[in-house]
Parts: sequence; C-alpha cells; structure tokens
Amino acid sequence: MNPEGEVVEALPARSLPGNAIVVSALHLAALAVAGLLPLDAPPLSLLACPFRAATGLPCLGCGCLRAFAAVAHLDLRAAFLANPLGALVAIGGVAFACATLLRVCGVDLAAPRLGPSRARLARIAIAIAIVANWCFVASRVAR
Ligand SMILES: [Zn+2]
Repeated sequence: MNPEGEVVEALPARSLPGNAIVVSALHLAALAVAGLLPLDAPPLSLLACPFRAATGLPCLGCGCLRAFAAVAHLDLRAAFLANPLGALVAIGGVAFACATLLRVCGVDLAAPRLGPSRARLARIAIAIAIVANWCFVASRVAR
C-alpha cells in the first residue's frame, strides 16, 4: 500500500490473462476498421443514430465512431471534438494494448487497485464525466 491508500500490486507477467490479449486485439481491430471506413461517403454518411433521429438529442455513443476514426488517423483534436470520452476510450485502449504487449514480453507492470472509498469516488467521477460528455456532444449537435 502506498501513502495515498492505494494498494499497488505487481502483476506477474506469466499470469497474463487471455482476456487482456483478446480485448487488446478487438480494440485495435475496432480502431483499424473505424480508420478504414469511409464515414463521409454514402452509404455510411446516410446512416443516422436512431436515438437522435427519434429524439433530436444525441445518445451517449454519438460521435464515438468518428472519435475512433480520428484516433486511428492520429487526429486527436477531431477525436475530442467528436466525443471526448470516446476519444479517451480509444486512446486508453491503445495504452492497454501496449501494456498487454509489454506483459506478454515479460515486463512486470504495477496495476493500481483502488480501495473502497477511492473506488466510490472513481465511480462518481465517471458518472459526472459521462454527463459532462453528453452535454458537450449535445451542444455540438445543436449547432
Ligand atoms: Zn447516437
């Protein structure tokens, strides 16, 4: 445990869960597909979010495909303008895939584990971030 109350454990490289490899591969595949899709040409440009079409408001995922495509093209400004949390997920997934690759190569990485009070704060922060993200995307859609 460190002075801030976090329990830090070094994950043994030999016990790499297969889930990390599968999640990393799926994330990188999703980024590659998003980067290759012609989002501004028909038929994809003609598709609309069903929630937004019905309500006029964006759903929580509106802009995520464009954020992933922008991250795949290394255009981080466009990614954050499309959907900030989507951009963070796309970038975080790449970081996770890099960490998984390091673990596969035998590098021991410390994985932070939050105590109950910090985990509760993290959940509250995530909820606030989701609401703030939706407000941001809604303000961009309203223009
Ligand atoms: Zn949507």
